[in-house]
Amino acid sequence: MVTRTEEYPQKRVFLGLLFLTCVVLTVLAAALWWVPYVGLSNINKYLPAILATVFGAALTAIFISVILLFFTVVLGRNIFFSKKLRGMVIKVIFPLMVVAGRLAGIKKEEVQRSFISINNQLVLAEGRKTAPEKLLLLMPHCLQFYECPVKITGRTENCKRCGRCKITDLLDLVEEYHVKLAVATGGTIARRIVKEIRPEVIIGVACERDLASGIQDTYPLPVYGILNQRPFGPCFNTSLDLDLVRRAVVIFLNGTIHDIETSGPGNTSADREKAGDTPIGTDLGLPPAQG
Ligand code: SF4
Repeated sequence: MVTRTEEYPQKRVFLGLLFLTCVVLTVLAAALWWVPYVGLSNINKYLPAILATVFGAALTAIFISVILLFFTVVLGRNIFFSKKLRGMVIKVIFPLMVVAGRLAGIKKEEVQRSFISINNQLVLAEGRKTAPEKLLLLMPHCLQFYECPVKITGRTENCKRCGRCKITDLLDLVEEYHVKLAVATGGTIARRIVKEIRPEVIIGVACERDLASGIQDTYPLPVYGILNQRPFGPCFNTSLDLDLVRRAVVIFLNGTIHDIETSGPGNTSADREKAGDTPIGTDLGLPPAQG
């Protein structure tokens, strides 16, 4: 029988690294307690016990959070404190996961994919409902056709809608749902756009590295990440799975929780359909998003 974690490699990587991180933390805490143990008992006989209690309490808090996180990820539903768990994943677990991934020989890109996927799940678990004008679609500049002479950063309405890149389709989506659309050339411009528009939720499309850093930069603002498609290599005439963007828009406008896997090369909704996979959203036992 195929389990949910087997269906989604990003979850498997995340849960594996989560376990490895817990083991490393336990060993570190034990070492931190044991090394000064001899010296502390010379100062006061109760000091080692006090230190052991402090470390034990810290580890217990971490393990409770990890268990909550584990069940939120496996069940795909909000158990408790999904916003706080998202903060913990972004600030504490992801940096540790990068180190644990290096120890386990897992590529950084794969760790980032897994982080983005879990972040998405935690964002969805919060069940946010957003007004259209507070929902921002933040796109990378490499999505624009390389030879297009029109400047669309800052003013996407300058686009002539020639159809040579996905900006045309995104503008159609904006007209349909009245959400905001912006194109950024880098992290600094992206931060400025977010400051100006002040969205409540961002649907961001980018590569693994930019999405992971964008999610970290904008916390506590929730960013739902969708990986771009790179048929010509990185940063050149990139594309996206419009179906995933549309479904994410519908979810945040309706405030219903569905599971959307991060898209990427070989993981588009069309690829999944061809492979006969379950439609997006049904893995949580919920109907697929309407769109
Ligand atoms: S769709 Fe818009 S941005 Fe893309 S190539 Fe045409 S004019 Fe340029």
